[in-house]
Amino acid sequence: MNVMELFETMEYGPAPEAATTVQAWLKEHERFGLFIENQWVEPASGQYMESMNPANGKALVQVASASSADVDAAVAAARKAFKTWSKTPDHVRARYMYALARQIQKHARFLSVLESLDNGKSIRETRDIDIPLVARHFYYHAGWAQLMGRELPGYEPVGVVGQIIPWNFPLLMLAWKIAPAIAMGNTVVLKPARYTPLTALKFAEIVQEAGLPEGVINIVTGEASQVGDALVKHPDVNKIAFTGSTEVGRSIRRSTAGSGKKLSLELGGKSPFIVFDDADLDSVVEGVVDAIWFNQGQVCCAGSRLLVQENVAERLLNKLRARMEKLRVGDPLDKGIDIGAIVSPSQLQEIERLVAQGEAEGAEKWQPSWACPSEGSFFPPTLFTNVSPASSIAQVEIFGPVLVAMTFRTPTEAVQLANNTRYGLAASIWSDNINLALDIAPKIQAGSVWINCTNVFDASSGFGGYRESGYGREGGKEGLYEYVHPGWEASQVSEKPQRSRPQSLAEDEEVANTSEEAELALPAIDRTPKLFIGGKQVRPDSGYSLSVKGVDGKPLGEVGEGNRKDIRNAVEAAHAASKWASATPHNRAQILYYIAENLAVREEEFARRIMQQMGRGRKEALQEVHATLSRLFSYAAWTDKFEGVIHRPPMRGVTLAMHEPIGVMGVVAPDEYPLLGFISLVAPAIAMGNTVVAIPSPMAPLSATDCYQIFETSDLPVGVVNIVTGEREGLAKVLAEHEDVDALWYFGSAGGAKMVEEGSASNMKRTWVNYGRQRDWLDPIQGEGEEFLRASVQVKNIWVPYGE
Ligand code: NAD
Ligand code: MN
Repeated sequence: MNVMELFETMEYGPAPEAATTVQAWLKEHERFGLFIENQWVEPASGQYMESMNPANGKALVQVASASSADVDAAVAAARKAFKTWSKTPDHVRARYMYALARQIQKHARFLSVLESLDNGKSIRETRDIDIPLVARHFYYHAGWAQLMGRELPGYEPVGVVGQIIPWNFPLLMLAWKIAPAIAMGNTVVLKPARYTPLTALKFAEIVQEAGLPEGVINIVTGEASQVGDALVKHPDVNKIAFTGSTEVGRSIRRSTAGSGKKLSLELGGKSPFIVFDDADLDSVVEGVVDAIWFNQGQVCCAGSRLLVQENVAERLLNKLRARMEKLRVGDPLDKGIDIGAIVSPSQLQEIERLVAQGEAEGAEKWQPSWACPSEGSFFPPTLFTNVSPASSIAQVEIFGPVLVAMTFRTPTEAVQLANNTRYGLAASIWSDNINLALDIAPKIQAGSVWINCTNVFDASSGFGGYRESGYGREGGKEGLYEYVHPGWEASQVSEKPQRSRPQSLAEDEEVANTSEEAELALPAIDRTPKLFIGGKQVRPDSGYSLSVKGVDGKPLGEVGEGNRKDIRNAVEAAHAASKWASATPHNRAQILYYIAENLAVREEEFARRIMQQMGRGRKEALQEVHATLSRLFSYAAWTDKFEGVIHRPPMRGVTLAMHEPIGVMGVVAPDEYPLLGFISLVAPAIAMGNTVVAIPSPMAPLSATDCYQIFETSDLPVGVVNIVTGEREGLAKVLAEHEDVDALWYFGSAGGAKMVEEGSASNMKRTWVNYGRQRDWLDPIQGEGEEFLRASVQVKNIWVPYGE
């Protein structure tokens, strides 16, 4: 072919990146052991497994296949190292992390090639995206190590962290896990994915080069059923950080339930890519390429559902097909390649199966005219039209280069379609009307929203899911809290809350008053509090009441015995009150102040209730009421001050890290302080815009039911707080398993905590439990503050680029 002919066809020639250095390194190692205490050790079983190159199906090298005995050794090494690493000064940890970042940059080319070989992703992406983001993550977190003492006062590392990562961004996921963990003084045992262990093993060499203390970072390769399972169940692991499928995340939630292990889950997605008719369609086409053909579509936040406004759909789809025709699939090491290989033959089969299912369900498939390489695991970019929103290809994560397109007419319809999945990881919105885009962004259930851009990431901007895409954030300051806990927790006790003994009552004159009242000739008017649902006092569905006894064993009154049906009604009422989320913070604050004002008027009456139920003296009871008033003021104050932040990631633009309410929250109040405990949980939840279904302390529910009238007279909109009295554990279980409850806080027994965590796995709701341990609710450090506010919000990062 001469130059003229070449010019006319504009064909690319091959531009392969040399792999010789990496190949030599692989050969030199022959096989890799486990990385424990900065040493390479043989797996106890003596077994090895292959990692292969998906572009040609050939084995690259052997890596150790660990068993639970090896996991024990790695955890023991991490535990030993934790003793000193957790006490290592911030500046020293920062220096180590800076050294890691530098070493990664020095080995950037090597790591890019190795990642492409092992995973099949294109060298263009590993070189320009994966590896630079890895280095950035270590730099960014070196900074947090330096600042930990000043920026997170009172917080301590959680201990030994087990980290489990997927194969789609092997080294980047390692960085997302390891950097924040060691920055905060934890030590780690990391399990790379079965298909892609090699960059983690190169990273282990970097750890040695950077001279990190032994045992701070341990890397254990092996099968999920061996290593993954052993880590998740290990009694000496304090936290599990997992990225992978929702299915496995769910099983991890169940098997760690009640163990007290902290848990963060980054799971799957089926993210919408929304195109309005005023968007620049040529930019949109490039956006779609980055959304779904980046990393062969094996991206948890891939824009896999194209939602396009009907009047421009045909034009956009034609442009898209023309662009797809020009995409290049092939050798990942070729610098001119757009799409590399699918990670494994089994993953390829899964994509083929779902695509066949899509066709069988009646959707229309379109693929470019050219053929993929026949050797290795490749799949062409694929577009489905005529897709029904309920069909499996519109709902199931395909995790391959497959796009499904649907249309909408109005912005409202776009939002409905976008949210019509159980996931909530990401979304991208395309429009030249910034007002429209910024109006839509808060309405989409997703942790990351990209406006006129897609699949951009940065260490400063937390990443993570809403709904069944998991919980916890990686990156940003919010990501650090996944790896620390309040220092005072170490001194928490777990004993059954006690009421004071009756004899102490006798010393109290106020008690004499109540008996005086009882001596009056008239019988008291029966005032059995009902349930409080949708702003109304309603009779329990069961028609039964439970008697509430005072410390002396005499009945104080009765409360309704709520059941499953009452909880369902309360959840429905809480959903119907969702407008509360869009009330201005100023408005919400005003209502909290008003609640305090109305409670203050009746403080004597509330104090008496506490005395009767808990057998406390008047002074103590009044102290609880006063603390409650102060707490209400605190959250009224915070309502318009616990705000998001604006990040400046390395692009022209900003990300707006917004604090959004989680939705409908269940709140199960503690026994220790019947009024203060109840308000300490309900107040932050509603301050941040959530609506609540609360279950009061069964020992002393009357302090909560007395609040009905306070709420009714304080302009609190109907349904924002709903209260169901009854048997705590049974009601909590209904809340835990309820599909329309988005978060659940439980402050009861250790057994109840386990039940709540287990039950929550059904829809992956966020939980916060106390494992039967008590906090001192009177102490503002333990009983109020940012810990409560953070548990009341989810952070959404909205990316807003600047410029034309
Ligand atoms: P996977 O869930 O099968 O595996 C993820 C990791 O968990 C692997 O290391 C695997 O060995 C391990 N594992 C599997 N079963 C386990 C068990 N029972 N106990 C403990 N560990 C176990 O997922 P995958 O196929 O490797 O990755 C693809 C999935 O990951 C997709 O669903 C994708 O959306 C998700 N993902 C999410 C994010 C995110 O940040 N949200 C990022 C990348 C990938
Ligand atoms: Mn591989």
